[in-house]
Amino acid sequence: MSKKLETIKQKVIRCTDCDLCKTRTKAVPGKGNFHSDVIFVGEAPGKNEDRNGEPFIGIAGKKLSAALEEAGVSRDDVYITNIVKCRPPKNRVPTAAERETCQEYLKQEIAIIKPKIICILGNTAFSSLLGGSEITKFRGKLVRKDGQMYFLSLHPAATIYNQELVTVLKKDIAKLFGLIAKLKDSKKVKVDIDYTP
Ligand code: URA
Repeated sequence: MSKKLETIKQKVIRCTDCDLCKTRTKAVPGKGNFHSDVIFVGEAPGKNEDRNGEPFIGIAGKKLSAALEEAGVSRDDVYITNIVKCRPPKNRVPTAAERETCQEYLKQEIAIIKPKIICILGNTAFSSLLGGSEITKFRGKLVRKDGQMYFLSLHPAATIYNQELVTVLKKDIAKLFGLIAKLKDSKKVKVDIDYTP
């Protein structure tokens, strides 16, 4: 792990900036390859993540891993993190204040890794990073904002009881890595939504 990322990790582990620190078991820093071309951003740790201090290791994580595997990508090759780093009680959606308090960590993770694409997983990440809503309408799209590319997809938890959405998530992840391959080859990609003035 890069030294700078390790510093953030240690800060996250000790963080007491919001009340989620009072109810968490373990804070959950981002994890993965800091040379990754993509950062996956979910909502917040769930029960398993809170117990173990690692992102996306529960059922939703297995869905994400399966989609990555199908695209020929190992989890160890990518970087995975969340909008908030501590589990909200009963898995409620993190509040605006909690997201805002935590946002500096994600900003720093992005600044260090400099991913070609940030993959937004679900509505919480969509609203927090791009002010969007209704991810089901926008999933599969590539967005450019402030010089950064974002790819929109479903939260893997949405696929747990819905086989059709498993296929959708896999399709999205395959498209994402196709886009990354093109960007690495300096080929043109179609930006679906461009916030560039
Ligand atoms: N859901 C998330 O959004 N993040 C995790 O780490 C686990 C489940």
